[in-house]
Amino acid sequence: MNRISLKEMKLFGHTGCLPEEKRDGQYFYVSIDMFFPALKGAVTDQLQDTVNYAEVYDMVQSLVEQSNCNLIEHLAYEIGRRVISEYDQISKVSVLVKKPGAPIDGVFEDMEAMIEVKRREAVISFGSNMGDREQYIRQAVDLISRQDGIRIKDISALYETEPVGYDDQDYFLNGCLKIETYLEPYELLHILQRIELDLGRQRTIKNGPRTVDLDILLMSGVRIDTPELTIPHPRMYERAFVLIPLKDLGMYAGPVPDGKEVLPTGIRFEV
Ligand code: ADP
Ligand code: MG
Repeated sequence: MNRISLKEMKLFGHTGCLPEEKRDGQYFYVSIDMFFPALKGAVTDQLQDTVNYAEVYDMVQSLVEQSNCNLIEHLAYEIGRRVISEYDQISKVSVLVKKPGAPIDGVFEDMEAMIEVKRREAVISFGSNMGDREQYIRQAVDLISRQDGIRIKDISALYETEPVGYDDQDYFLNGCLKIETYLEPYELLHILQRIELDLGRQRTIKNGPRTVDLDILLMSGVRIDTPELTIPHPRMYERAFVLIPLKDLGMYAGPVPDGKEVLPTGIRFEV
């Protein structure tokens, strides 16, 4: 793929776990590779059609100089997110941060971390069965759309669905959202959990009533299997209330289990 790079920027910063690293600081060497599916500047020869590397240098410099985080991988992630957020044309950034003065008692040439930040498609399912369900979902979608690093691409219609797993509760409104994001999966999860809490979600009964539930169903190229986060979502293929909205988004064409009711409401938000 088309690439523009800046190599071995020598910058002074205070990233490190030890108190003396935070106090005294040291030199870091940062290299950044920016990838472009299409680079208009290659055709037009105009600065406004490409990424201005002097601007990128300034961005990286101020992040390295101002940051006082513990880990160079975190610093690299911050740099990658910042650069990709500034330029829509970039599909992927890889950031290499080297710390030759790392406090290791031994002989070594370098200590380095490389982090890739890239745009991916993801699908989020949403559901609500308390209070003004449509309003909760509207607010959740609105909050998601305002997040840095998330762009909403498409949204399914809303469905009225029979509860699954715990019957003594009201029907849900359910649907799915397709997004593009350069956020890491765990960061996306934490943002969704924050929005659930902000909208009054309380976790009392497992599978019980909720103002809003936001789950990550799919993320392109991502497979994670931990208790905190599993992608693809482990139960999505058993749930008609997920698969039917996914069909709306053109992201599923297989069979849908029957049993529980999933009724169209005719409600569809604008994206
Ligand atoms: P559920 O969505 O299963 O009804 P919760 O919303 O309370 O229940 O989530 C339970 C736990 O599931 C959360 O603590 C979260 O860390 C975990 N989890 C695992 N994988 C995912 C995922 N893909 N999306 C959202 N939460 C997930
Ligand atoms: Mg959930």
